[in-house]
Amino acid sequence: MSRTKQSGVTSGSALRGDSPCRSCLGRNTYEDRVISYPFSLRDRVIIFENVPAFVCNQCGEILLAGETAKLIDDLARGDSPPTRTTEVPVYDLGR
Ligand SMILES: [Zn+2]
Repeated sequence: MSRTKQSGVTSGSALRGDSPCRSCLGRNTYEDRVISYPFSLRDRVIIFENVPAFVCNQCGEILLAGETAKLIDDLARGDSPPTRTTEVPVYDLGR
């Protein structure tokens, strides 16, 4: 099995500050922020901290620059040791 598709990172390689929001289509709504970004890959959840991102100030849509998305993808799939680890709570709504 080599399923490589995953949801999570949305990259905007042709990203400009005045691009309309991809979610709410607002104009000039993206703000430069530094965020924590949870990323799930198969059964693992990985949290990236101090991630530079564009965040829509209307709907919260997050855009990552292409190189940031690639770095996250590489780190998630690679085996370099994380800065730290933490426990992540899980709630099952199917119970
Ligand atoms: Zn938006």
